Amino acid sequence: MSDQSSPTNFIRQLVTADLGAGRYPQGITTRFPPEPNGYLHIGHAKSICLNFGLAEDFGGRCALRFDDTNPDRESPEFVEAIKADVQWLGFDWKERLYHASDYFEQLYTFAVELIDSGHAYVCDLSADEVRGTRGTLTTPGVNSPFRDRSCDENRELFEKMRSGEFPDGSRVLRARINMASPNLHLRDPTLYRIRYQTHHNTGDNWCIYPMYDFTHPLSDAIEGVTHSLCTLEFEDNRALYDWVLEHVTTPSRPYQTEFSRLSLEYTMVSKRLLTILVEQEVVGSWDDPRMPTLSGMRRRGYPPEALVDFCTRIGVTRNQQNVELSVLDNCVREALDPGTPRAFAVTRPLKIVIENYPEDEEEELEALNHPGDESLGTRSLPFCRELYIEHEDFQEDPPKKFFRLAPGREVRLRYAYLVTCTEVIKDSSGEIIEVRCTYDPETRGGNAPDGRKVKGTIHWVSARHSAQAEVRLYEPLFVDPEPHVSSEDDLKNALNETSLTTLDNVQVEPSLAAAPPGSIFQFERLGYFCVDRDSTDARRVFNRTVALRDSWAKARAK
Ligand code: ATP
Ligand code: MG
Repeated sequence: MSDQSSPTNFIRQLVTADLGAGRYPQGITTRFPPEPNGYLHIGHAKSICLNFGLAEDFGGRCALRFDDTNPDRESPEFVEAIKADVQWLGFDWKERLYHASDYFEQLYTFAVELIDSGHAYVCDLSADEVRGTRGTLTTPGVNSPFRDRSCDENRELFEKMRSGEFPDGSRVLRARINMASPNLHLRDPTLYRIRYQTHHNTGDNWCIYPMYDFTHPLSDAIEGVTHSLCTLEFEDNRALYDWVLEHVTTPSRPYQTEFSRLSLEYTMVSKRLLTILVEQEVVGSWDDPRMPTLSGMRRRGYPPEALVDFCTRIGVTRNQQNVELSVLDNCVREALDPGTPRAFAVTRPLKIVIENYPEDEEEELEALNHPGDESLGTRSLPFCRELYIEHEDFQEDPPKKFFRLAPGREVRLRYAYLVTCTEVIKDSSGEIIEVRCTYDPETRGGNAPDGRKVKGTIHWVSARHSAQAEVRLYEPLFVDPEPHVSSEDDLKNALNETSLTTLDNVQVEPSLAAAPPGSIFQFERLGYFCVDRDSTDARRVFNRTVALRDSWAKARAK
């Protein structure tokens, strides 16, 4: 049943073994369980691909479950954004869209079951007192003075907690496990707390909210999850996960397995930190193209296939990985290269005037939309006496290895003509403002009939026909490959000040002037660029999705 094209990993091996042993005759069930307190990031993509991928490849089911037990920072905006991102990645939860908050009534019943069997008690200690009596890794905790309340008293108090008779934070329900356990998670952890807060899904129906460690295993059990996959920081919580399931009568018994979190060089993948970046306006929004969020990557032009491919390549292990950015960039390039139309854009324009080209003349030249795939067709490029080329494609006093335009040099204007530089024009401060050339009319299309060799090929646009556009270039948000941010000062020092560069006088070929937001092009020799939603009718805005690895080698090869 397993899809042989997906590389194996220890979790796939576990599933294969479980199915082989006949443990799950109905097939496996997994879930992706985000808390709706922010937008999804590339780390979540790893978990989505793993959970939905297993269900797909082994003929099982995967749910999208919102783990929404903490009303503080959760919102419908985040719920909707998460749904959109999972769909964009190409996964379908079908009818399995769940909220942990839908189970609040059932979870309450489970808590009462724990109380009735003597496994939970209402504790009146304050949060600080609970913390202060928990002990440390080397010393045991101290039993709460409320630990031996009778089942009847606990039940009555818990009902009063629910009906709003006690103030916010004044009491909690705790599991009655072992205050001396070497695993701190088992030292009578809190199961419920009082919070007078409106919940995005249940409104004001509840003033007690279950804790994650109680909710998570029981939600899994209610949904029939077979393989509950989570990241390694929950390894120590597994004992509590198991304890809850062993002490409550549940419809099924899920098992938790941990894998390592994705971390990416120069990037922070934590919703908490990403929230700070948004709230402090370090970035414009959750979908700022510099953000490692799925919505930011979508806006930047990353195709979803590239992210799925990336998740496949990095694999699933228990080793901490700090993946190189180039791995992601390569996935993006490889996904974009085959179908993405090529176009010409000049990001830092330098005017060239073709002196022997008549002033009032113009012509259309044919250009391939994809040099490697003729099925993508051609477009025409207008050509006339005045053109723009990249400033850096001209040097007045070039070094030896510079094969582009320079005084007396001949260069190929791609898809157009061979031109030779005859004169350099400067302003009073010595800045080069224009270059004069002559063209060889015999070289239409870019080839010399006499077979003479021209080493350099550069791109260009017609000054008369090009449209002005804005281009945004991105670098990583952080300067350190492993950024550590625990305070606001850390954050300031960790940020890359040149993460965004805006070029506001970019000249693009006319075919781009009306390209719709979201469309992606390869600007030849420059990289892949995606039309941003900030574009107006008068002016397109392009995000650089990713640069070309070795743009010059490619252009030279033509
Ligand atoms: P964050 O620290 O960014 O807030 P989280 O773990 O609190 O992440 P959740 O919404 O609880 O965010 O995560 C949903 C699922 O995604 C969980 O199963 C979690 O383990 C997984 N996940 C989150 N971050 C990563 C990551 N960097 N790599 C792999 N899986 C991740
Ligand atoms: Mg979390």
